[in-house]
Amino acid sequence: MERHEAATALIEAVRFLKDNGLLGRRAHANLSARLNAETMLLTRGGNVASLGEDSFAVIRLDGTVVDGEVDPGNQEIIDMHAGVYRLRPDVGAIIHTHAPYLTAYAIAHAPLPLAYEPLLRAGLTEPVPVVPWAPRGSEASVGGILQTAQAHPTVPAVLLANHGVLVYHVSPASTASLLGTLEEAAELSARAATLGGAAGFPPEAFAQVKERMAAYRS
Ligand SMILES: [Zn+2]
Repeated sequence: MERHEAATALIEAVRFLKDNGLLGRRAHANLSARLNAETMLLTRGGNVASLGEDSFAVIRLDGTVVDGEVDPGNQEIIDMHAGVYRLRPDVGAIIHTHAPYLTAYAIAHAPLPLAYEPLLRAGLTEPVPVVPWAPRGSEASVGGILQTAQAHPTVPAVLLANHGVLVYHVSPASTASLLGTLEEAAELSARAATLGGAAGFPPEAFAQVKERMAAYRS
C-alpha cells in the first residue's frame, strides 16, 4: 500500500471507530498499515480524535523511524505493531483501542467467549485470548502479545490484560470492521452473563458455517 493511500485508509478507519463507539471515551488509540515487506505507517501520537496526513510516521519493522516524528509516549508501541507484522506476513493493518466492552473483558482477564455467530463467520475457532499484563512496550509485553498471537493463529486479536484490545487483519477497513464485530460480541456476551452466561456452538458448527459460506460465494 502506498503512503497516501494508507493514511487515507487509516483516517477512514478512525471515522468508523468513532461512529461505532469503538474508541473509548478519550480516543486513546494507535493504528498502523503495512506499506511493504519492510515498513509500516503508524499514528505518531496517542490521541486519534483528529488525524491528518501528517499524523503518521513511516517506520521500518526493525523499529527504526524513517520519516516523521513519533511522540515520546508513542515510542513504546512501535515494537508491538512491528512485531505483529514480522510474525504475520498476511496482516496489513493493526488497531489498538480501549473499546469499552472488550476492555472490560481485558480488565477482568476474561477471554472473549466464542458465542456470537459473526465471530464464526470471521473465521474464529476459539475465544479471544488475554495476554498477561506487563509494562507497556516492555519485552515481556511485546513477547507476550507475539506468543499469544502465534498460539492462536485463527484469532485475529488479543486482549491486553488491564489495558485494551489489539486487532490485526488484512486492511485498515477490514481491521476496523472486525473490531466492531468483536466489540459487539463483547457487549452481547457481557449481557448474556446476567442470563446464565454465553453458550458456545456445537462442535460441528465450524465445518457447517464454512460450508454454507462457500456455497454462497462460489
Ligand atoms: Zn492503550
